[in-house]
Amino acid sequence: MEVKGKKIIVVGLGISGLWAARWACRLGARVTVSEMRRAEEMDPSLLEELEELGARFEGGGHDERSFLGADLVIVSPGVPADLPALRAAGDRGIPVLGELEVASRFVKAPIIAVTGSNGKSTVTSLLGDILKASGRKVFVGGNIGTPLISLAASPEPVDLVVVEVSSFQLDTTRTFSPHISILLNISPDHLDRYEGFEAYVRSKYRIFMNQGRGDYLILNDDDTRLKALSPATRAAVLRYGLEPGQGRDAFCRGEEIVMLRKGRTAAVCSVSDFSLPGDHNLGNLMAAVLAARQVGVAPHDIQAAVSSFKGLPHRMEEVAEIGGVRFFNDSKATNVDAAVKAVTGLGLPIVLIAGGRHKGADYAELTEAACGRVKGAVLLGEAREIMAASFQGKIPVRMARDMEQAVAMAHAWASPGEAVLLSPACASFDMFESYAHRGRLFREAVTRLRDGTGQKRPARGL
Ligand code: ADP
Repeated sequence: MEVKGKKIIVVGLGISGLWAARWACRLGARVTVSEMRRAEEMDPSLLEELEELGARFEGGGHDERSFLGADLVIVSPGVPADLPALRAAGDRGIPVLGELEVASRFVKAPIIAVTGSNGKSTVTSLLGDILKASGRKVFVGGNIGTPLISLAASPEPVDLVVVEVSSFQLDTTRTFSPHISILLNISPDHLDRYEGFEAYVRSKYRIFMNQGRGDYLILNDDDTRLKALSPATRAAVLRYGLEPGQGRDAFCRGEEIVMLRKGRTAAVCSVSDFSLPGDHNLGNLMAAVLAARQVGVAPHDIQAAVSSFKGLPHRMEEVAEIGGVRFFNDSKATNVDAAVKAVTGLGLPIVLIAGGRHKGADYAELTEAACGRVKGAVLLGEAREIMAASFQGKIPVRMARDMEQAVAMAHAWASPGEAVLLSPACASFDMFESYAHRGRLFREAVTRLRDGTGQKRPARGL
């Protein structure tokens, strides 16, 4: 792909758009950044950087005329695919590609790509740690932080790349073909952005559509849909599940992760000091271990990284204990399946804090998982009425107006030996800037409560 001298439109000035602009300018393209927000609404330092790079900023909407004059349009993952200017460019035959697609054409090192409805960040960072423990120079990024195109813009070579990829990123790929792809699970999510669940599933399957001989596709065999999948690929398919079973290449045996190779089993690592809770995290670990073994990482390096991996913030993160009640921040549980795994994996009686922006999900599975495990739920945000209707007659519910009140109510409700769990099953954008902002406010409210600086405990039975 020739970039020098070409007219490139970068759509959206988030982190991915910024890196795409940096990359394209460095390669000598004539770059315009097209953004919904007006210049006055942007961080001035971003606009300054664009000016220094020699890129033009076009704010306040997407001007179709600029798009129609472009040689290439690079879209950021957050940009809706049905944007009229994008359609117009596509209809004119102008390539409209995602940042991941463009980046992957320029990155030389083998790529390991991780997708799924849940667990992507956990597996991406765990696998990154494992590969680094083996002494390799690794780029870890994608949806989890630094976009892949930043690597294309960097002169520093790496041995391997681990990228987290979302369904939105996969929607704008064409030739993207990782050496190893990992598909962790598929459960309903983003139903507000897709035509239906099947459209979302098809988007996830794009991760392996261009893989060929010599590549690997790693699938979770405990996921009903993935178990039944016979993927149309020439890549070697490797499957993992908790129990040994037909066609499984990795499974658990007691405290060990075991791999089957050429008909023989071999223990790869012990999970006795793996700190992440729940069976789903054992699945995440097996996915990472399978990938690591395919690129030749030795079991002792895997063990070292697994034993020291402490998990990521906002994913089942224990933040405090107050009077025998333990508080867990799982703010990243932005869909139903993640909340189900939290509720079923914690192993303690729970007062659940849930709710937020409703994404069209059905809360029946969460209700079912909560029965016998959740003694009560404190609900927040736009989804609270819909969730309360699902819980009705099964889980006692109380409504809170904000996080501070939710934490105080949940604390008052919980008894020593029980847990307060924030696992919302919803997006955060109705009341918070992001899941991380929501998690921070939870942590702060809990800390104030612990230090006696919070609001008064509401009377029991509020
Ligand atoms: P993602 O990047 O896909 O959002 P994260 O690793 O950030 O995944 O975790 C998001 C949420 O999903 C957290 O609540 C976490 O506890 C939960 N989770 C992690 N792994 C899994 C899994 N394999 N299945 C279901 N939920 C999971």
